[in-house]
Amino acid sequence: MEADHSGETADYIPELASADPDRLAVAICTEDGRLYSQGDSDVAFSIQSISKPFVYALALADRGFDAVMEKVSVEPSGDAFNEISFEAGTGRPLNPMINAGAIAAHTLAGPSGATPQERTSRIIDGLSAFAGRRLTVDSAVYESEIATAYRNRALANMLRANEIIEGEPLDAVTGYTRQCSLLVTVDDLALMAATLANRGVNPLTGAPVVPAEVVRQVLSVMATCGMYDGAGHWMTNVGIPAKSGVAGGVIGALPGQVGIATFSPRLDRHGNSVRGVDLFRRFTSEMGLHLMEVP
Ligand code: GLN
Repeated sequence: MEADHSGETADYIPELASADPDRLAVAICTEDGRLYSQGDSDVAFSIQSISKPFVYALALADRGFDAVMEKVSVEPSGDAFNEISFEAGTGRPLNPMINAGAIAAHTLAGPSGATPQERTSRIIDGLSAFAGRRLTVDSAVYESEIATAYRNRALANMLRANEIIEGEPLDAVTGYTRQCSLLVTVDDLALMAATLANRGVNPLTGAPVVPAEVVRQVLSVMATCGMYDGAGHWMTNVGIPAKSGVAGGVIGALPGQVGIATFSPRLDRHGNSVRGVDLFRRFTSEMGLHLMEVP
């Protein structure tokens, strides 16, 4: 079969533009912690937007559903990931998977009154608990994104003006950008997804990371909003809750069954990995994983 070379690496973050576009990796982790991987599974890349569902989970666990819902809704926006879109009337971002909602969710992790540094530490600790190992920030990716993060700064300023976030908007953007710069492999991502598939308990370490009712909320939002303006095609063709990131990662989680992760840096026009989307489509059809199909 011909290799698919279509799509482009993310060009708005210089460190990502220069990534080797031919990398390809996949990992699957069962809900009892058996991990299988293939390809460039030892290559680390930045988590980017795949951090969003996990940070949303931490915010729900730390602040409760009502406090989070007051600031971030759960409606699909049908917009691009970096769209400047807010709900009329409330000024809330439509969901926590687009950047506006993710920056707001970032500020809701940890106890209320936490400093920006405490918030970021809570997030790095929390995402590390999902992965079952200590994750670290890629400072080159961080510096490269923050230097030109004008759009995310605009979003944070709007969130502050709409009284959705408190404190200094730039602190929210720097913390959010650090969160996006955490380095992961497909093995890490498969385990993080498997923790969602396993009711919030890490299947390898046994650590309870977030409560089961939080996982239900997070997977529902991933199913409806995880692939941005490609979410409808994703749900019909692939049919499992998922999240993509602009470094080329994609995760999917099937409750009670598996966490799946792929890595391939070339992106389609929605910012989703071209080969990742195709691999997921093949997995779910060949293994009968589509949620709307009777097994
Ligand atoms: N850090 C990236 C941004 O905020 C994440 C976007 C993504 O992965 N879709 O633009």
